[in-house]
Amino acid sequence: MSTTVDASLMRHVNKRTVLGLLYQEKAISRSDISRTTGLNRATVSSLVDELIADQFVVEVGTGRSSGGRRPIILQFNTETGYVIGVDVQITHVTTVLANAGREVVFQHRRNIDAMAAPLDESALTRLIAEEIAVVKRVCPPSPHGLMGVGVGLPGLVDHQRGKAIYLPNLGITDWNVRDSLAAFESLPIFVDNDANCGAWSEYLSTRVPHLIFVNAGIGVGAGIIINGHLYRGAGGLAGEAGHHAISPTGDDCHCGNIGCWEQYASERAIQHSLAAAGALMPDILPSDFVDQCVREADAGNPIYLAAFETLAQHLGVGLVNLLNLFNPTAVFLSGTLAEAYHLMQPTLASIVETRAMFMNRHIPVTPASSISVALGAAGLALAQSIALLPTVL
Ligand SMILES: [Zn+2]
Repeated sequence: MSTTVDASLMRHVNKRTVLGLLYQEKAISRSDISRTTGLNRATVSSLVDELIADQFVVEVGTGRSSGGRRPIILQFNTETGYVIGVDVQITHVTTVLANAGREVVFQHRRNIDAMAAPLDESALTRLIAEEIAVVKRVCPPSPHGLMGVGVGLPGLVDHQRGKAIYLPNLGITDWNVRDSLAAFESLPIFVDNDANCGAWSEYLSTRVPHLIFVNAGIGVGAGIIINGHLYRGAGGLAGEAGHHAISPTGDDCHCGNIGCWEQYASERAIQHSLAAAGALMPDILPSDFVDQCVREADAGNPIYLAAFETLAQHLGVGLVNLLNLFNPTAVFLSGTLAEAYHLMQPTLASIVETRAMFMNRHIPVTPASSISVALGAAGLALAQSIALLPTVL
């Protein structure tokens, strides 16, 4: 009995190894798979036959011969199915449709202005369901069809239970996103923190093994990849970089601390700088607030240029802390503040070069793709839907 179970488990593990390799490689032959994995050629052939029958793998021609028959080249079938990724922010929702090869075939952005008109759980559920429906309508036919939906949320998320524990800037606590969406949507739903989704997406795109993804907008959060794995911490809630204090005094933060990085390196920090300089500021920021400020700064308005300079200094100090703590290979900046990257880059670079420890001064801080979070959420759904793929968990 146990021998049968062990053999079946071993076959599953081997199949996962082979599909994982095919997913990573652009093109590979059966003998290359055998050489790379150490599995014998008969086992590889049998596993590949199953994967072809399941339409996860396709034969795409022949490669160069090293003496014998020309090898048949195999590829992961990027059209085997599709996944949807949703990035929920305070000011907008971005939704993407991606194939199994993480190629985006459709994307949609909807401004929501949750600051002006707060959304409760049921309104946000309906809004996400509407965005999923928009994307579903354009999904091409494929062997496995639509396989799942990933949702990235700005706050503390219990990814195993599909629950938002606390979304501070939306004023939402203890929301079972998966159950709520199930009333509208029959696809499997996967939920994670937005910065975790972004970090996973940048990792899959760049294969940089140690990276930090900083999502900075109304709030600030980070996703941390260590040695190719998402770092979640003991309770699954690591990455609250916005709540590491950069001042022993300062404004109260909703987390209970004072002087949090988020108070100095977010949209509200720009608002405070501008108000202190005498600019008339609305109490509630419009969804295109950073956009408007960037336009003013680009036009040479000195108040706005100074606000971005102050922002860059505070953003830079927090980034240096993260560099010195994690010694990553790269940092990716995302969120609405990334729209001002060109204004902040000289100051950010100067602070990293002068204030980081010597071994961290060369680490690049670059803007992430604007759809990283949505694509990462889609990637999480993909990894959960095809159990044979490498997973982030
Ligand atoms: Zn805080």
